[in-house]
Amino acid sequence: MDNVHLQTSLHAVLRTRQEYLDALAELNIHTVEHLLLYLPRTHEDLSQMQTIRSAPLYEKVSIRGVIENIKLVYTRSKKKIVTALFTDREGECVEVIWFNQPHIKRMLKDGDEVALTGKLVENHHKVRFQSPAFEKVQQQNLLHAGRLVPIYPSHGIAGSKWLREKIALLKEYIDEIPETLPEDILQEEHLPKRSDAIRAFHFPDKPEEVQAARDRFAFEELFDIQKRALERKQQWQSQKDERLCITMNPDLIKTFFASLKFTPTKSQKIAIYEILKDMEKDVPMSRLLEGDVGSGKTLVAVATIAHTIAHGGQCALMAPTEVLAKQHAITVSRLLMSFYNYCTKKDLPPFVTISPCHGEGFCKSKIVTNHHGLIPQDDTSFPLSTISLLTGSTPASEKESIKTKLKNGTIDLIIGTHALIEDSIQFKNLLLVIIDEQHRFGVAQRSRLEEKGSPHVLAMTATPIPRTLALTAYGDHDLSVLLEKPGNRKDIHTKVVAPRDRPIIERFIDKEIEEGRQVFVVCPLIQDSQELDTKNVQAELSRLQSTFSNRSVTSLHGRMTPKEKEKIMQSYKEKKFDILVSTSVIEVGIDVPNATIMIIEGAERFGLAQLHQFRGRIGRSDHKSHCFLFTTNPAQAKSARLKAMETHHDGFKLAEIDLSIRGPGELLGYRQSGIPDTLRESLLNPILVMRARRAAEKYLKMHKFRNIWHSS
Ligand code: ADP
Ligand code: MG
Repeated sequence: MDNVHLQTSLHAVLRTRQEYLDALAELNIHTVEHLLLYLPRTHEDLSQMQTIRSAPLYEKVSIRGVIENIKLVYTRSKKKIVTALFTDREGECVEVIWFNQPHIKRMLKDGDEVALTGKLVENHHKVRFQSPAFEKVQQQNLLHAGRLVPIYPSHGIAGSKWLREKIALLKEYIDEIPETLPEDILQEEHLPKRSDAIRAFHFPDKPEEVQAARDRFAFEELFDIQKRALERKQQWQSQKDERLCITMNPDLIKTFFASLKFTPTKSQKIAIYEILKDMEKDVPMSRLLEGDVGSGKTLVAVATIAHTIAHGGQCALMAPTEVLAKQHAITVSRLLMSFYNYCTKKDLPPFVTISPCHGEGFCKSKIVTNHHGLIPQDDTSFPLSTISLLTGSTPASEKESIKTKLKNGTIDLIIGTHALIEDSIQFKNLLLVIIDEQHRFGVAQRSRLEEKGSPHVLAMTATPIPRTLALTAYGDHDLSVLLEKPGNRKDIHTKVVAPRDRPIIERFIDKEIEEGRQVFVVCPLIQDSQELDTKNVQAELSRLQSTFSNRSVTSLHGRMTPKEKEKIMQSYKEKKFDILVSTSVIEVGIDVPNATIMIIEGAERFGLAQLHQFRGRIGRSDHKSHCFLFTTNPAQAKSARLKAMETHHDGFKLAEIDLSIRGPGELLGYRQSGIPDTLRESLLNPILVMRARRAAEKYLKMHKFRNIWHSS
């Protein structure tokens, strides 16, 4: 055809009914190029042509031969049947029969050479070809048989067979499809050209060609994601600032380790080293610390904080909720305090000075009774390091005073919710921001931090995700991973429970409560409605109140104010309740060592990574802990996915299983992860991900070099 090119509308090229074009239009396919880019989802291998003699019965086969004696007959029950004789190239003959497809009589005539694809079946000792698909042999090349046949996702009237025929008509334009990857990357990575890959999808000669084409597209997608992530990182690190350089102080770290009640794990040491190495540079760090629940991220954070404070910088530690912020305030100040005490006891110069008269007891009483009070009120008598807590419920006057102290540098460490950077808060010398339990350090946060002088940033997440996904979803961070579990914590006994076994388990739980243990119950979010979510918790609360009538049961849900939630958490911690029912609010960081039982209702609704998170809430004491996964119906209790929870206790392993079954969107827990589910397979391929990452790094480096070259 003359004047046809990739942008030509299909209307002008294809001779077809408007209905077909409409169906394509619904898929946003309007031009030649659009249709060529509509790729098959898989291929059926019909490349081996059989003969009647060689074809196995009841299996899909393709046979080439000639049609004779075709006729339309009516059965006694007035059904229309087309029958014919089919003779293959070996002269073997078989009857063909099509039910209720009278049009076939019009489409085929005696003497037609065809390829039939379908099953040979035996009926009353007679073998026949039953309702096969047919293709007339017009040219040398068959489309629907005799090759790796592409199977397209069909859309309404536009079925796979129709698509195959139309795409074949446009074959000659494939060469015009423009390349999207840089030439040198194609060569170095031995990837097929874009047009060749597309041809391989539609008209492959062998399966390896299809795989190479798939890899090319996956590579391209990964490369683009990596390139964008690395550009964001470059942007974040584009401002050099000498102020950020903190020389590593190994003595401080050694002494800090010595002050601990335990030995840090190897991963903790490596992570701390990686972080401090980053912080020696004059560009802001952008690092993600990934570690399973209980892997000891807090310790890494505190070592980094101590190091920064000793250097004279300010730190901010942000948690997603007030309860967690408060918990951090207690843990962090205890660790810093015992570091200080250790130094004075050993007659060492204190690296981080916290006034000894405001010891642990002080922290405890203040933190419990007074939300702002980790640290002395009258700082005139307190020239040493100061830690403060700032949350949404800090009274305005207190907040003002904290703001002043942050601005004049009196406060060294501020702990709080995300309000810390969202507000009009100014720092004297903010050098380190740690964001706990947050998936990613988003664009909005980035720009706020830029306003605060682009400090070093460490994000910490307890969602263990496979490295490939971490590199893809958080490609703008460097990655530190805590691999081992500290201490000698035992695995949590886990059981998937079908509805009918509920009474047995509930008797067991009652016995545990009798022994003094406490129970968490997690209910799934029903839809995304707070209303229903609350109802769900309320319903479960009253059910449990009657089942465990002599136990005290309480609940937490999304409708409560942070104050109410905190009050309940506090009384639960103080053992005023045996059972706490909640939605996934307790997912992150809450620490109640005496709670040894975790019940998850509607467990089938949660991802494995999330279930593992819930389970991480228990197993924090020497008592044996149990996790029960209740399913809504009996069949779900047999699901291999849920059963994986019984055998696997490693969050990374579970995350990998989740990734392969449910895809990256589910795993990251939010739709806007920016990672399409189509990448699921590629993400299970670490080599491909690493190749894309390295290629993107190299590409950006070359690009920078070219820019410098051209501008000088
Ligand atoms: P997460 O990574 O979930 O934030 P935490 O930092 O809260 O974990 O640590 C979990 C528990 O493990 C804490 O009680 C902490 O004191 C303890 N812990 C941390 N590191 C070690 C270690 N190296 N050896 C023994 N216990 C440790
Ligand atoms: Mg934590």
